[in-house]
Amino acid sequence: MTQPLDKEQRAQILTPAVQRLQTSLREGGEARVVGGAVRDVLVGRKVGDIDLATTLPPNRVMEILAKASIKTAPTGLAHGTITAIIDHVGYEITTLRRDIETDGRHAQVAFTDDWREDAARRDFTMNALYVDAEGLLYDYYNGEEDAKAGRVRFIGDARARIREDVLRILRFFRFTAFFGKEEPDADSLSACCELAPLIPHLSAERIAHEVAKLLTAENPLPAWRLIVEGGITQHCLPEATDLAHLQTLLETEKRHNTPPSAWVRLGALLPPDEAIAASVAARLKLSKRDTETLRVLAVLPSLLRGNIAPATLRNMIYDYGTELCCAAALLNGENVTEAFATIDAWENPVFPIKGEDIVKQGIPAGPRIGESLRAVETWWRETDFRADRAACLAQAQKLRASPP
Ligand code: ATP
Ligand code: MG
Repeated sequence: MTQPLDKEQRAQILTPAVQRLQTSLREGGEARVVGGAVRDVLVGRKVGDIDLATTLPPNRVMEILAKASIKTAPTGLAHGTITAIIDHVGYEITTLRRDIETDGRHAQVAFTDDWREDAARRDFTMNALYVDAEGLLYDYYNGEEDAKAGRVRFIGDARARIREDVLRILRFFRFTAFFGKEEPDADSLSACCELAPLIPHLSAERIAHEVAKLLTAENPLPAWRLIVEGGITQHCLPEATDLAHLQTLLETEKRHNTPPSAWVRLGALLPPDEAIAASVAARLKLSKRDTETLRVLAVLPSLLRGNIAPATLRNMIYDYGTELCCAAALLNGENVTEAFATIDAWENPVFPIKGEDIVKQGIPAGPRIGESLRAVETWWRETDFRADRAACLAQAQKLRASPP
């Protein structure tokens, strides 16, 4: 159950900052690194955020760290979490907990000093791993073996654990997307499928957050296939079922070595329909920016189909920006190299005239200024943005003399 980490693994998680925290919190208690960081180091993945668990209550943690001149922020006091900040990096430190009451969405917790109790309320065996200040690994549920085998398994009875917190269904598929190697654990999978009708009880934000994380896995296709085939999508994203398009997108991304984006991948799974994209974004309560991404990606890729003229593409870049045009080219999948070359070679120009230039031409301030500017801008775009300031001013005068 306990074993020492090797030197290299130790160096990755017991960094000087973590050691400083562990040494300080030894005063009357203990802190261990927990969860993702431990799991990731065991499977040879790059370690991201480092979280700690401690036997000390949060107010004691804050007191002790203040004495050690370590900055803290009370980021989740109600459930026992504070964040320590060392060299601009945040470390979440959470007091050991056990659940008192759960309703599928929230949990009422009590603090404990029992590591095993804290481990028991975590979701999967591979997420209930701890490392103490000496570099000893505490593995209560065979999580190391499961992590290495890519087996995502619930701790305890899968159905009971899902009823406590329904989000665990989506978390099961998220961790399967990142770590799954073999066939998924049959009991865990069937529990997720059976209880999927409970998903609509979750808040849109929690669903969106998990889906976004899942979709940024290097290859989210096998996990999403399980989601579709298990009928999970019906209860959260019934429209997101185009596995063939996701597969093509992933191949295109690989060929062009582009980083993953959750909403581009969701765009591939959805039908190319602006109204559907808008309703999915509203249901997931996405930000304005992410909503716009989904909406534009429902229409833009089809406009890129065939042999698109570079000038037309430049006009799209002017309207939607480089990032969305690259995403659209990837989703379209045709002539991506050419599209990328045009996008790379292009910097959006600034329209060379302003309202005051039109005023100087003798037009009184008012709605006609805007109309005139827009008309010249349309013409300027048709010149492939080549017309300079003088030409645009001349065009403004010409359009007024003989409106189209
Ligand atoms: P990542 O590297 O993707 O952040 P992670 O393991 O750190 O992975 P988080 O969602 O940040 O995942 O959660 C941190 C830890 O908290 C998990 O490893 C797990 O032990 C526990 N945890 C988080 N959410 C739940 C949940 N809904 N039910 C039970 N345990 C959870
Ligand atoms: Mg994490």
